[in-house]
This record gives sequence, structure tokens and C-alpha cells, in this order.
Amino acid sequence: MDVWTKKALDRFITYVKIDTQSNEESSSSPSAEKEYDLLRLLEKQLKELGIAAEIDEYGRLYAFLEGEKDYPVIGLNSHVDTASEASGANVNPQFIEGYDGKTIHLKNGAKMSPEDFPALRGHEGDTLITTDGTTLLGGDDKAGVALIMNLAEYLVTHKEIKHHPLAILFTPDEEIGRGAEHFNKEKFQAEWAYTVDGDYPLSIDSENFNAASAEIQIQGIAIHPGEAKDKLVNALRLAYEIDLELPAASRPENTEGREGFFHLLEISGSSAEATVRYILREHDKDKFQNLKITLQKACEKVEKAHPGVKVSLSIHDQYRNMKEVFAKDNRAIDHAKKAFASLHLVPKENPIRGGTDGATFSFLGVPCPNLGTGTYNHHGCYEFLSVRDFDLMRQLLEAIIKVD
Ligand SMILES: [Zn+2]
Repeated sequence: MDVWTKKALDRFITYVKIDTQSNEESSSSPSAEKEYDLLRLLEKQLKELGIAAEIDEYGRLYAFLEGEKDYPVIGLNSHVDTASEASGANVNPQFIEGYDGKTIHLKNGAKMSPEDFPALRGHEGDTLITTDGTTLLGGDDKAGVALIMNLAEYLVTHKEIKHHPLAILFTPDEEIGRGAEHFNKEKFQAEWAYTVDGDYPLSIDSENFNAASAEIQIQGIAIHPGEAKDKLVNALRLAYEIDLELPAASRPENTEGREGFFHLLEISGSSAEATVRYILREHDKDKFQNLKITLQKACEKVEKAHPGVKVSLSIHDQYRNMKEVFAKDNRAIDHAKKAFASLHLVPKENPIRGGTDGATFSFLGVPCPNLGTGTYNHHGCYEFLSVRDFDLMRQLLEAIIKVD
């Protein structure tokens, strides 16, 4: 094993053992005090390498490594927090050397088969790092953190390598949708950047959903049920009627690729008053607008059909498809493709069925597609790291930062 692969893996193992789960209930930044446990370690390690690094008042760690003058500053971002679906405390990574391609039995009795987890396919002979079945691994996104830290150390100890100036940003709270909050473009200094937060190394995620949330308030007509004939209009039934007006083909369970959807999150209330909540997701800008219009029309139709009831809809935009930004400034993607080509690799551009902090950075003036990490099955105890893919990402990041 290459000494730098080994170093990056050692970092990875150190970082995943630090519990950094973010907290959705909290409104502070960072949301959980324990996210500082990793942030402060990273700040210390960067400073020991002689790299300027500082955690700001919101728990964002910015670092900067000088490079060749007259070359654009390239940014790299990863998040330090882990998801809430599984515990991130007492992570106990397990090494499987020379994976045989068969079902993996995790220590607590849980099983991972290639049938249930297709990401395992093609990893015969690879070294995998799994969980012990009781926690998540934290490869999302400590693999990204380890790769970026490893790159920084590599550049500092190989002064002969000419490279772009490197801007690093480690963020808390990505998993609770707040990673891009308090983003300071001036502090970051990057002309373009990459989030290192995906899975497959051979993909550049350059498209994400346009996203909005919708809330519908419904007032029915409340009458004593004993005297309700021809008078009562049940608000909960109106909620149901509105949902039936939306095309069944546009539900998450019936869509894939670039197809958008209405996702019914909640119907709550009483026969007198009800609240309905949806999220709307769609890659295409015009189709996204049409989702909003369809929902508006459904509300109006149901309100009209029942004189005396009140249906009011409010829609809030959440994030936008970063593809729009790359249509005007494609340097980040072109540059990454050149780096792939230097390793004789051809990446796929991939539409993400979700969001990414890079989309927010992109719209704030730092175009920022997403790259892989070599970790898979994020957010649960079936998460694993492929040493082969992780190492490929290590080489790709080196290729991205080097100037030729
Ligand atoms: Zn992530």
C-alpha cells in the first residue's frame, strides 16, 4: 500500500472515532457542541502543517495553502457532522482484506449481501472497511475530510510539486441542511470548488433538484356530526381530495433519474382545520414551475368545489439546480475532467436526486460540483469504504490541485 494511502486511511479511522452527530432540534451554529471535537483537531493538525487555519464564530473551519501565483484558487469542502439515522458514537471500523464478493456478516449479526447492496459488486479482492453493525461508519463525510487533510499534508511535504492555491472549508451541520449557512465567500477565496461528499469516484455530480416546500392550511365547515347532513365539510377529507388531484406518477416511489415529484410529508389537524405539507423536487426549471402551478390549481379546485371552506397555499423555495450556474461558468467541471483524463479516466456527469451544499455555494458565486469519496450506503450501519476507490479519489484530488 502506498504510504499516502496508508496515511489517509489512518486519518479516516481517527476521524470516524470522534462522534460529531449534528442535532436537528438545535438552532445554534454548529448545532452540536461535539462537532467542535473534530473541527478543533483539524484546525490543530492544519496549523502543525504550517497552514493558515481558523474556525469562525459559526463553527466553519477555513484554511488556505499558498500555491503558484497566477493560478486560480481551488476550493475543497467536506462536512464534519454525521447523519441522525444511526449513532455516530463508539464507531468500531472493521477491515475486510481481500473481499470474496459474498455476504458480509457484521459483528452484531446484521448481514450485507451484494443482492441487497449492489454497491458491493465489483469489489472482489478489494479491502473494505465496514461498521460493526451498531453504528454508522461516518464515511459520509469523514472520508472527504481525510482525503482533503491528506492532500494538504502531501503538498506541504512535497514542496517541489507545483499546485494551485488551495482553499479548504470544513462545515458542520450538512446533514441537517444547514452546512452552507454563514458561507463567507471572501474568507473561502476559491474561484471554484468541489464538495468531496459523494460515493463513486468516477462521477461528477453537476445537477441537483430544484426544491421547494409547500404548506396548505385548510378550514373546513365544522358542524355537530348529528346535524351535519349537507352542511359539514371535513377538513381532513379536503386534504385527501387535494392529494388525489396530484398526478400519482409524480410521487417519489414512482420516479427516478431526472423525474420530479410531490412528496406528501404530513396531513395533520382535525375535521375542522387541517395542515398539509409537501416537498416539491424537480431538475428542470420549467417543470419545477409547473409542479407549483399544479399544486396551486389543486387547491383552488377543491376550494371551489366546497363553498364556504378556505384553502390557502404557501410555497417556499429551498434550493436550486446548480446546473444553471455551470451553464454560465463551466471551469470547475472542465478542470475536473482534465484531472480525470490525466489518470486515463472518463467521469460521468450525474444528476443528484437531492440537494448539495455545493448548489448553495454555486449560487453564492463559487461554482461547486460534487465529487466522490469511495464510501457507500451512507447514513446507516451498512456504510462501507472501499480502499481501492478511496485511493483513486486521493489520486484524483492530487491531479486536480497540481499544475502541469
Ligand atoms: Zn455527506
